[in-house]
Amino acid sequence: MATCEVCGNSYGMTFEVHAQGVVHVFDCFSCAIHRMAPICEHCRVQIIGQGVEADGHWYCGAHCARSEGRVGIVDRV
Ligand SMILES: [Zn+2]
Ligand SMILES: [Zn+2]
Repeated sequence: MATCEVCGNSYGMTFEVHAQGVVHVFDCFSCAIHRMAPICEHCRVQIIGQGVEADGHWYCGAHCARSEGRVGIVDRV
């Protein structure tokens, strides 16, 4: 029995996500996405897919990266 770190729900089927040396505990994927998904710095959407990282900034896609002046970025699809 563990407790979701996002909503505080104590639930028998929680799961752990190990990221960058830290263990996170969630009760459902929507809580995990809420906690883990980076936010696009241009359109503020939560990045559920791969996204684009440029110079430490996260974008949902090459379009948003280019809109913020990041040149030379193409979608890795
Ligand atoms: Zn939760
Ligand atoms: Zn975006």
